[in-house]
Formats: sequence, C-alpha cells, structure tokens
Amino acid sequence: MSHHILIIEDEEKITDFLRRGMVFEGYRVSAAHDGPSGLAIARESPPDLVILDWMLPGMDGLEVCRRLRSVGPVPIIILTARDSVADRVMGLDAGADDYMIKPFSFDELLARIRALLRRAQPQTAEVLKFADLTLDTGTHQAFRGERPIDLTAKEYELLELFMRNPRQVLTREVIFDRVWNYNFGGESNIIEVYVRYLRQKLEQDTEPRLLHTVRGVGYVLREE
Ligand code: CA
Repeated sequence: MSHHILIIEDEEKITDFLRRGMVFEGYRVSAAHDGPSGLAIARESPPDLVILDWMLPGMDGLEVCRRLRSVGPVPIIILTARDSVADRVMGLDAGADDYMIKPFSFDELLARIRALLRRAQPQTAEVLKFADLTLDTGTHQAFRGERPIDLTAKEYELLELFMRNPRQVLTREVIFDRVWNYNFGGESNIIEVYVRYLRQKLEQDTEPRLLHTVRGVGYVLREE
C-alpha cells in the first residue's frame, strides 16, 4: 500500500506544488491549511509522514509538531524560512525529525521523505550494552545501572549511534550524517548542544564520564 503523506501548509501554491509532485511519486496525499484541521486529519487517518509549515496562521507549526508528537511517532519534516541554529534546535526539540529551508529543491525533499520512511520501518529490537549503560532499541529505554534515563528522540538516536560504535571516535561529519541525515554546515554547534544534553542525563552524582570529547575531531564512547 502506498504511504500516506499529510501536508499542513497555508500557502496554496506550495501545497499544490507538493501535492502534484508527491501524487506523481505514488504517495497518497492529504492537505490542510491550518494546524487544527491538520491535527484532525492526523487523528482520523494517521499519516506515515507529515510535512509541516512552521509559519501557520493561528496555531504555529511548532505547536502542531508538539501535538502530533503526543499522538504518536510519525516522522515530521518542518518547512521553514528561518535559518538560524537556535531555530533549528527549537524545531528539532519540538519533535521534528528533519526540516527544509524555503525555497527548497523538490528532489531533496523527496530524498528526505524516503530516508525517513525507511527509518520508520520496524526493525528487530535488541538491547545494546556498554559499561553500565543499556539501551533497548525496541522500547527506546535507556538505563545507567538500575537508573532509568528519559531520552528525547534525537538524544536516543545519538546514544544509539555511539553504542553501536563503542570505543570508536566518531567525527562531527559522521554524526551529522547519521543522526541528522545531512550536513548542517561547519559552524553549527548542534552536536555540542546535544552531547551536553546527553551527558547531563548520563552522568549523575559520581557516575564516571562515558562520552568523551576528542578535541578538533569528534566524540567517543569509552571508559576512562
Ligand atoms: Ca506559511
């Protein structure tokens, strides 16, 4: 069965352009011009992926994103004219999986849609272990010893990447590519921001550091 893509965008020209292109690619497409009607469609007929405009009248895209997230784990791509790193972090924190900056190339959007749909396919769950860390790839539950750790979607992906590659130095480029699917540009500090979040959760009280900085290169998961 073909994938169902929901477009939430108030600019009709963009909606029409996206709808035509996606139908041509074989997707089933529904569209809404504002947040509340988009959420109504998502509840009635759950989409496989949502393309969501940030600047919507009334309820903005970030709020729509949070509400979609509270319903289920559907992949979300945000469309935005905003371009600063702070805005990107805000969008990703709200639960978006990816975003495109307007104007964007349709081919690139299609590539990201395919990547997200591929990642959303269920995989066999396993429990990854390193030192006293465990990570269940089915439930996304993490533990340090007996202590449960709550992770956001991006923190989970980052930790999973390190736990699948223990004791290997992962460069910033590899992390960008594997966790964010593309390069943010050299000056972005998004990895530092997320490593900081992750360390705060992984290192409580006297728990020794596991996620180490390799200056000028990247990061490594190892014991001291
Ligand atoms: Ca708009």
